[in-house]
Amino acid sequence: MKILTDIHTHTNASAHAYSSLYENMCAARDRGLELIAMTNHGPSMPDSPHLWHFLYFKAITPRTIEGVRLLCGTEANVVNKDGELDLPPSVIAGMDIVIASIHNVTYSEEVGGDHTETWMNVMDNPHVDVLGHCGSPDYPFDIDRVIPYAKEKNVCIEINNHSFLSRPQNIDRCREIAVACKKYGASVVVNSDAHFMGEIGIVPRAVEMLEKVGFPEERIMNLNAERFIKYLSEKKNKVFEF
Ligand SMILES: [Zn+2]
Ligand SMILES: [Zn+2]
Repeated sequence: MKILTDIHTHTNASAHAYSSLYENMCAARDRGLELIAMTNHGPSMPDSPHLWHFLYFKAITPRTIEGVRLLCGTEANVVNKDGELDLPPSVIAGMDIVIASIHNVTYSEEVGGDHTETWMNVMDNPHVDVLGHCGSPDYPFDIDRVIPYAKEKNVCIEINNHSFLSRPQNIDRCREIAVACKKYGASVVVNSDAHFMGEIGIVPRAVEMLEKVGFPEERIMNLNAERFIKYLSEKKNKVFEF
């Protein structure tokens, strides 16, 4: 199975990522990808881009670069149990794609406990398309509530290849989440979470895990560009032009 898009990538607009947008597009071209999304961290992360980064995506035109289509959005930080994000609703409403992730430096809740309500509240935000790398054992949640709700709200659960490399404590939980997505009919997306061009489109560990649990290919929303654009277009009632 080859995943032909990568919809969670960072550029050097975030100081702890090291490639430019153009370098990422070239890497995507070289690996035969059809589409990538630039999703830099929301402004509450200490080295994230300024708010203006997210307000001027219209400068990036055309949206096909080196033969690869580009979506512009964010990996917004979930800041509290109410599921609030660190970008105003008026800003994220205009984005192509919104991933919502918990990062310990920007999330006000304690490690441990139960974070089910956080994810439920995040999914009540109609602009959120993806729950990012939610397999951290630091922030447990009730899989049997969150995953069916993702199905109901048409939100994708991310299987993040970066977690297999940099967050090995997440691996067992990622597998449990994938099994639950299969059981409840929820959709997933498979991403690199690249912080350098060398990682763009590289997702072998995530794919291997999905194949091992027999995850149905038709529920991998970003398997190819056509499928992912159709998903986003219908969810956001928006026409995407590249
Ligand atoms: Zn993240
Ligand atoms: Zn990320």
